Amino acid sequence: MSGDLSTNFWKWEFRCPCPKCKRIKVRVSSLLLFKLEMVRMTFDDKPVIVLSGNRCPEENKRGKAY
Ligand SMILES: [Zn+2]
Repeated sequence: MSGDLSTNFWKWEFRCPCPKCKRIKVRVSSLLLFKLEMVRMTFDDKPVIVLSGNRCPEENKRGKAY
């Protein structure tokens, strides 16, 4: 296992990008991680880029697409 959440995924990928959330612990569902790994396998083990994992309500209101 190379990621800190699953084989290919890291906590930092799911972090809310706003400065307020920097210290908040990232929690990601193990079912979601399992499904993401399945998606990766389906596409020849190519990287799956997480554009947005966690977003606090404020960050959500800003409506940015990362
Ligand atoms: Zn935030």
